[in-house]
This record gives sequence, C-alpha cells and structure tokens, in this order.
Amino acid sequence: MDRKVRVRFAPSPTGPLHIGGVRTALYNYLFARRNGGDMILRIEDTDSHRFVPGAEDYINESLAWLGIKIDEGVREGGAYGPYKQSERRDIYREHVKMLLDAGKAYIAFDTPEELEAARAAKPNFQYDATTRMSMRNSLSMPAEEVKRLIDEGTPYVVRFLIEPGRDVEVNDLLRGKVVINSSILDDKVLYKSADDLPTYHLANIVDDHLMEVSHVIRGEEWLPSAPLHYLLYEAFGWSDTRPEFVHLPLLLKPDGKGKLSKRDGDRLGFPVFPLEWHDPASGAISAGYRESGYLPEAVINFLALLGWNPGDDSEMMSMDELIEKFSFDHCSRSGAKFAFDKGRWFNHEYLQKMDDAQLAELFIPVLEAHGVDTSKFSKDYITRAVSLVKNRINFVADLWDQARYFFVAPTEYSEKDIKKRWKEDTPEILRGLIEQLKALPSFKGTEAEPIILAWVADKGYHLGNVMNAFRLTLVGECKGPHIFDITELLGRDETIARIERGIDTIKA
Ligand code: GLU
Repeated sequence: MDRKVRVRFAPSPTGPLHIGGVRTALYNYLFARRNGGDMILRIEDTDSHRFVPGAEDYINESLAWLGIKIDEGVREGGAYGPYKQSERRDIYREHVKMLLDAGKAYIAFDTPEELEAARAAKPNFQYDATTRMSMRNSLSMPAEEVKRLIDEGTPYVVRFLIEPGRDVEVNDLLRGKVVINSSILDDKVLYKSADDLPTYHLANIVDDHLMEVSHVIRGEEWLPSAPLHYLLYEAFGWSDTRPEFVHLPLLLKPDGKGKLSKRDGDRLGFPVFPLEWHDPASGAISAGYRESGYLPEAVINFLALLGWNPGDDSEMMSMDELIEKFSFDHCSRSGAKFAFDKGRWFNHEYLQKMDDAQLAELFIPVLEAHGVDTSKFSKDYITRAVSLVKNRINFVADLWDQARYFFVAPTEYSEKDIKKRWKEDTPEILRGLIEQLKALPSFKGTEAEPIILAWVADKGYHLGNVMNAFRLTLVGECKGPHIFDITELLGRDETIARIERGIDTIKA
C-alpha cells in the first residue's frame, strides 16, 4: 500500500526531554523529510500525576534549537488536531465506548486494595482470562449491579478484553517478525473514570490512527507494548491501515553495560539533556548541550550516528546530507554506546568549519564575562586571535584559555617554564631582542621571522631557550600558536612592553 509518510514524535511532558528522546525525534524527522512526509509533534499528557510544568515548552525549545522542524503540532496547528491529548477527551471517550459496545473491552471496579490483595494471594497475578471472572467487573457481575455502581458514581476503569491463546505476529522494520502468544498479555487498563482520561495505550493507538500515522518510530522500551497495540488496531477494525513499527535501539552507557542514565553524565561529565533544565520542584539544575557550548549541528551529527550509519565512511554530515542518506536499512538493532567524546570531537570539527568572524562574535560574550572591555579591540583583531587558536578548542569557552593573552597581558608567569627556560643571561639576550624588534622594517610575522632567526644564529644563542623565554613574556607560559603570528597581532609596542615587563618581573 502506498501511503503518505506521516510520522509523529510523541513525548510525555513528564520532565526534560532526554537525549535518547532527541535521537528518536531526529530519526522521525530524517525519515519524514527523506520521504517527503509530515512530522507531527503530539503531546501525550494523559498521565496527570506525572505532569511537569515547563516540560512542553522545553520540548519545543529543544527541537527548535536543534533544527528539527515540526509540520503539525500544538504550536504549528494542522488538520488533525488538537495535538495535545488532554484536549482530546471526547475522542477517547467515544472510542472507549466503541470497544465496550463491541464487547472488546469491559468495565472493572476493583479498588487498589482489592488488586493488591489479589496480587498477594496469587504469585504473578495478572488480570487476564484466568483471573478476570474472580474479579469485580462487568463480565463477572450482573448487569443491574454494574449499572447501579456506575449511576452511583463509583470509580471504574475500562479494561481491554484479551482473548487468550492467540498468536500475535508483530512486525518491526528493524527486527523483523516476532510472534507473541496473547495469553502472556494482561487486560490492560484503557481508561479511568476517575480523571476521565485514557491511558497511554488507548490514546496512542487512537491518535496514530486518526492522525494517519504511517510509521511509528520510537524507543526500544516500547517494543513490549507492540503486541497489545496490534490487538487494539484489530479490535477497532483498523488492521489494514496499521502503521509500520520501528523500535530504535537503546543508548547505552559510554563504559560498561546497561542503559545510558543521567548519572553517567554526572559521573563522566557530559550532559544528557539538550538544554539546561531547572527542575521546578527541587530547583536542581541539569546541564544541557546548548549551555555547555555545543553547536546544534554537532549534536545532530553525533546523535544521527548513534544507531545509524550512512553506508559509507562519511562522518561530517549536515542535516540536509543526513536527510538525503537516511534509511532504516543502515540502522542497527543493537544498542549504541553513548561515546560522548565523539560528541566533543564533532563540536571541535564544526567549530573549525565555522567562519572566523562568526566564531569571534560568539567569543565576545565570553571575553566580557571575563572582564575584558571588548570595545577596546576591533572585530578584526578578535577574529584574527580566534583564527590563530581555534584548532585547539572543543568549545567556544575554551577560547578564553587559548587566547586570553591577546586581550590581557600576563602578570604571572608559569614557574615550570621559568625553571626550564629562564637563564642568567636571558634578560640581556631579550634586551638585545628588543633592539632587533625596534629596528624591524615590518612587524609582519613572515618578514620579522627570518631577520630575528638570523640574529639568534649570528649571536650563537640557543634558539629554543630564546624563543621560549620570549614566548613566556608574551603569553605567560610556553604555549600557543606560532610566535611570530602572536607578535604580529599584538603589534610592536605591546610586544616590546611585554618583554620589558617580563625582564622586570621574572627572576631566574
Ligand atoms: N508518550 C510516549 C513516550 O513518552 C510515546 C511512545 C510512543 O512513541 O509510542 O515516549
């Protein structure tokens, strides 16, 4: 059957969107775009107890930051709305009634205490064909009593009537066919009268059907629900238009075994959330990729490769390139280790690709935050400083460590480097160097360098010691880019002033 590709990302606003959820959203988006389809964002907020204020905005802001564009959703609108489940109560009520009328579901009055007692009395108790007639429901009780209880306003749930002993064949585009016997399933609660809301399973199936979703692409944790979802499609008579299912492999700990958790991030120093999250209840702050200095392109590229490969050895791929290459043929079935250092590597690579002037713009607030009055420096100066050191950074904030001396002259000098490079005769040699620098016809690095090197050779000085002592006065330590690039940017006066200060301050 040829149908329009329509996918949905269906998060529950129960907290900040986890990075695994972002990957799910991304794969949905790539698949939709690759196939000229629609991307729906559906907010699954039927579990009122787990609702967290701010979580929905957080989801929207995260996707927007990452460039995952939504075609239909709460903000975007669309022909299949509302896109928030709490606004679809009438639809669910109507569908629950359809199942009840068709005898595919029933009403159950068992209280939490009664269910608890049943569990205590029978190990591995499950509400199903073997137990339901001993419970309090519309199958085991006379119709008048059921009616009376409902009329009295007794809280009830609607349960799905699972017929035992049937083989349910579930197909997953990554995993192939799996046969599950219906006897292992329980009569899942589909609706609760107490809050007049459906449970996840009912709302999810009804919405996927009504929104004409063609492919359900979601995390592996939902795989166990797939047989139940198949049976629900069948009960509604919708099996012919049931979506295809794709359950994405888990994201695993970077080290060791098991699922990636927030604690791994805290332990190893990487964020597990796209944006910083301020927990409204506890006030706790969790790190985000955005605030930690990651570029959205880098995060996307990194996540895309956690569970998928392009089939060739391309690594750096823009969103458009990912869209062009994406297919489930190259998705893996096994979990993907969350190699966060690879995320850093991508960030480094994307920073290298960025225009120097643009990078300089990002550096300005960092300089200001460190107390530098950036109005004293031209855009060109900042841009040139950035271009000299950018190959040494993974994050914009690293520019401070690598380029601070272009903006603030050193007042302290590395002890270790002094010990190694500052000799008895260093001040005198540097005084000679100052004379040479003063006499240079041009301070351009390429022109200054041969003249200075020739002078060092002529004097018979130790090149390494002279150049490193020189560097120590300019930078404060023996690191940084090519020294004649540094001097060119600092300019003649500043270079000489720094050497003089070094001579005055540093004692061998
Ligand atoms: N609301 C579910 C979640 O939070 C959606 C699962 C699905 O995509 O079917 O992940």
